[in-house]
Amino acid sequence: MTSTPADESSYLVGLNLSGRRVVVVGGGSVAQRRLGLLVASGAAVHVVTRAATPAVESMATAGHITLDLRDYRDGDLDGAWYAVACTNEPDTNAAVVAEADRNRIFCVRADNARHGSAVTPATATYDGLSIGVLASGDHRRSAAVRTSIRDALAGGAAIADDAPAPVGVALVGGGPGDPDLITVRGRRLLGRADVVVADHLAPQELLDELGPHVEVIDASKLPYGRAMAQQAINETLIDRAKAGKFVVRLKGGDPYVFGRGFEELQACAAAGVPVTVVPGITSAISVPSAADVPVTHRGVTHEFVVVSGHVAPDHPDSLTDWPALARLRGTLVLLMAVERIRQFADALLAGGRPADTPVVVVQEGTRRTQRVLRADLQTVAARVRDEQIRPPAIIVIGPVAGLTADAG
Ligand code: SAH
Repeated sequence: MTSTPADESSYLVGLNLSGRRVVVVGGGSVAQRRLGLLVASGAAVHVVTRAATPAVESMATAGHITLDLRDYRDGDLDGAWYAVACTNEPDTNAAVVAEADRNRIFCVRADNARHGSAVTPATATYDGLSIGVLASGDHRRSAAVRTSIRDALAGGAAIADDAPAPVGVALVGGGPGDPDLITVRGRRLLGRADVVVADHLAPQELLDELGPHVEVIDASKLPYGRAMAQQAINETLIDRAKAGKFVVRLKGGDPYVFGRGFEELQACAAAGVPVTVVPGITSAISVPSAADVPVTHRGVTHEFVVVSGHVAPDHPDSLTDWPALARLRGTLVLLMAVERIRQFADALLAGGRPADTPVVVVQEGTRRTQRVLRADLQTVAARVRDEQIRPPAIIVIGPVAGLTADAG
């Protein structure tokens, strides 16, 4: 066909492919990169290819696509609304485009975009927006511009965004401390907050980015006694949300790991306030990893157990079976355990955990102020005292704490 190449004169369009047949000829890495979005769009995707990558095969096994493992032949585009030619053979791709043209099916040709009748833009999705960028065939440029637009939206301030205002309360996990370790969704919702109720363990730098109109409430300073603090937080969330504000409850790590997040969810539910939960990167896993300690390692440990140290082993409120923990060979991750590390170490030693079990203590993990102390179960309590380790800190006990990067 002798039309203008599909590039600078292209007409950008959104296709509704839901339930419509899309034929992809080729099953290699190029197809693999296209298939995810095609499947997500709801298209009935059929792949014809002599050989498929394991990822493409597993999409077929999972029922996301149908797959014919054979050579392309004329007629394969029957019933298709849209086609993609992405084999590594130019002649085959040309034949697919020719068949598509004869049947008036728009077709992308991956190896030579100018010879197809359609081109795929660099795309991004953001909070209900679909963004597509074409740059006259300059793929690097379209990808770079797409990324800039997406980052500007994620950054909040750069582009006016009139999406409908979210309502209710969002329980957002802020990650372990480095402000870059919040999720994309968490950051986006934070950018839309009218009120932010923040824990002291949430990344404080994120609060600096909020506009002057945003009310920031320090959850640890609400004017109630200690026992009443959680109730005061719940009431604040509910009152502000009922006044029509969008409230972000910003917590450290993940909201549901020793964060009382579920109590807040229950309180909001009882008050009829809608809640969105945004998981976070918990310090229990990320702080060890920031200190080069993997909580699991093949052939070394088949379990890791995350334990709160907020009460002593012999305290009547303790729900932890310390003798059982002492019998484990795997990884123990203790949170809130700095003050009582002597008692926990003693309980584990008394239960039979070897005295030379490696221990790593990480204070203020992922922050600029991160400190790492290496010890063993026998020495850790004295070392924590002598080196004046302070909360927040994570204590990792087990053979993974003795691994080093250069070990074979
Ligand atoms: N919901 C949080 C945990 C809250 S309990 C999460 O998922 O991470 C608070 C404890 O978390 C602290 O006492 C400390 O043990 C641990 N903690 C949180 N952030 C930390 C950090 N940056 N470095 C070390 N420990 C941290």
